[in-house]
Amino acid sequence: VAKRKSLDMQVYDASLDSTSAQNLSLLSELRQAIDGNELRLFLQPKIGLRDDSVVAAEALVRWAHPVRGMVQPMQFIPFAEQTGFVRYLTLWMLEEAARQWKSLQPENGTLRIAINLSTRDLMDLDFPQKIDEMLDRYGVPREGFCLEITESAIMDDPQRAETTLNQLAASGYKLSIDDFGTGYSSLAYLKRLPVSELKIDKSFVMGMEQDESDAKIVRSTIELAHNLGLTVVAEGVENARIYALLAALQCDEAQGYYMGKPMISTDFVQWSRDWAA
Ligand code: C2E
Ligand code: CA
Ligand code: CA
Ligand code: CA
Repeated sequence: VAKRKSLDMQVYDASLDSTSAQNLSLLSELRQAIDGNELRLFLQPKIGLRDDSVVAAEALVRWAHPVRGMVQPMQFIPFAEQTGFVRYLTLWMLEEAARQWKSLQPENGTLRIAINLSTRDLMDLDFPQKIDEMLDRYGVPREGFCLEITESAIMDDPQRAETTLNQLAASGYKLSIDDFGTGYSSLAYLKRLPVSELKIDKSFVMGMEQDESDAKIVRSTIELAHNLGLTVVAEGVENARIYALLAALQCDEAQGYYMGKPMISTDFVQWSRDWAA
């Protein structure tokens, strides 16, 4: 019961003092999650709409909690960000992705793994070096990775974020703006930052059949991305009609439950075979 309370708490009351007893206990549980190998890397396919090929996979964390079962990221990522613990989580995800990378590669071509970064990673001036060292250690090419960053993570401290992002891009990582359209930033940064992909937030994609404004936002984001020379990905694709609609609108890639849910790597490999068959 104590554990359940400590996990739920941050979702309902993010204002709690980070030194409170409950928060300290959640923090030690998170440390235990890493040390005790309780974290899991799930993969969700990103499909190229030109030829229906599997082009990438987004890495999404899950917590196989000994008492609560599989805990979803929204139950602990905000707390991890607030306390700074998320930096360890990012490094764990990177290492796990690097370790699995070769076994996930198709016979021809490259499957890119997308990792979610937090504002804490962007504020860490040593982060670019840490990721380079990690991938070098596993002999994995940087082109095999994509780094997803939200608009709000960038706008926390745009100058510092820009420094980190320039370094990451110079190292060869593909950079993607996540949840595009939900942030409070201006479009000016899009021109300045070395990003190569926009991900249209799932709220617009999921609404595009019923809501004409959502449909317009999706269409104009695809156009904007292409005018800026960027690849555009739609997330939250839940049915065949939206999949076909996006392909007709020349959207480059799609991700969503209709094609595949986040899964562990062995299931992902099996799913890829079934998808290609
Ligand atoms: P996100 O980066 O926007 O990831 C996409 C979320 O949408 C995932 O939720 C995914 O399971 C869900 N999703 C995918 N397709 C569909 C669909 O067709 N319909 C619906 N309704 N949802 C779909 P998930 O795995 O629960 O992750 C939630 C958020 O937690 C992520 O949003 C991301 O912000 C954060 N997160 C997850 N893993 C990590 C991580 O390793 N590091 C960091 N920093 N954040 C993470
Ligand atoms: Ca993401
Ligand atoms: Ca997203
Ligand atoms: Ca999101």
